[in-house]
Amino acid sequence: MNNIVNLTLDGKKVQAEKGENLIDVAKENGIEIPTLCYFKEIHPTLGTCRICTVKLNGRHTTGCTTKVADGMEIEINTPELIDNRTAIIEMLYAEGNHFCPSCEKSGNCVMQNLGYDMGLTYTRYPHVFSKKLVDFSPKRMIMETNRCILCKRCVEEIKTKDGKSVFSFVGRGVKTRVQIDYEQEEKLSEAEAIRAMDLCPVGAILVKGKANELPFGDRKFDLIGKDVLTKLHKGVTAPKHDEKFIVGTTSLAGCFGCHMSLLDIDTDLLDMLEIVEFNKSPITDIKNFSKRCHVGLIEGGCANSHNVHVLEDFRKNCDILIGFGECAIMGGVPAMRNFVPLEECLEESYLNGITSELGANIIPAHEDIPKLLNNVYPANEVVKIDYYIPGCPPNAQHIWKVVKSILTGEEIPIEHDEFKYD
Ligand code: SF4
Ligand code: SF4
Repeated sequence: MNNIVNLTLDGKKVQAEKGENLIDVAKENGIEIPTLCYFKEIHPTLGTCRICTVKLNGRHTTGCTTKVADGMEIEINTPELIDNRTAIIEMLYAEGNHFCPSCEKSGNCVMQNLGYDMGLTYTRYPHVFSKKLVDFSPKRMIMETNRCILCKRCVEEIKTKDGKSVFSFVGRGVKTRVQIDYEQEEKLSEAEAIRAMDLCPVGAILVKGKANELPFGDRKFDLIGKDVLTKLHKGVTAPKHDEKFIVGTTSLAGCFGCHMSLLDIDTDLLDMLEIVEFNKSPITDIKNFSKRCHVGLIEGGCANSHNVHVLEDFRKNCDILIGFGECAIMGGVPAMRNFVPLEECLEESYLNGITSELGANIIPAHEDIPKLLNNVYPANEVVKIDYYIPGCPPNAQHIWKVVKSILTGEEIPIEHDEFKYD
């Protein structure tokens, strides 16, 4: 019996064995359909993450649950489908606590790498700053449920030698989370526990003492990946012949690391100064805008009323605003306080912390001290931000390429190792 079928993938005629999985058929034909939950050994396939959504004969369906048949016409990389995929990844980033700069899985994380490949710089959805369980109780593992994307890989694939499940889903709706059965987890060998960690497409399952064995920089996705192109259009009016582009910069709730990276542009700074003049910026120490700026670079998110005021001032005085660094994009390290009520943070810092001065027992409060906000907010949740440069801090070359691309309209390739979330 002839088991070979004919089908089209994005208009390309291909042949495959009847019943083969669409993800595999596409890959064999040079088309990568992104997915987070698909794992060849799991049958039936999970279809939980929906990132591999394609159009089969005009109707949406998941690629990983599609077995190829004769005459199928499959659309994979249309602008609509690419946008759907990007939106799902953005939702996952916004819904979980994905602080790549402090994540043990960074560089080995499938979701992070998909973000890189998609050229994702921010999420269009507000961050939830989830407060789910971080479970340190299992013998070998830590379960960080705030990073879990509920793909179900661990639930289906990780069993003890006597066939018992180690992971299961508990709760319903938005409260669903993965739970570890401590008794069964103890039965796993170290190698089996590490396999569970590796199987997880994000950094939700960690094996104690093993998650950081491979140094950053030598990790799986540090060594492979696509370059991205700055898709920035000239958004500013070119200055007159003898004038320069005016740039302002500020650091809100950040550590100044992004500004350090800006100075790290090295000799390219000389090229920059040929076309750029800095106005309000810690670099010039100009405190107030004396001119309208073509571009404003924002480091840090908003932790207090002063940050909000400065950010609004930049929006008013700059044609284009760029959020540079993770703190501007998603709150970064300062936003880690969003999981704890503000009152408790203050008490811990000023009253109970081991570094608080004995007998001081005062939480500073004065009208001159900016009022702390209940949460730390990414810059785009306060004003409109036009472009984002990810990284903690962003790579110096990346910063310059983006600014140059905006100012001159040139389309400039960003190399894979310049485009980082950590
Ligand atoms: S490395 Fe992966 S799991 Fe870790 S924070 Fe980043 S996206 Fe989330
Ligand atoms: S813990 Fe990891 S493997 Fe398990 S469901 Fe969550 S994301 Fe998937």
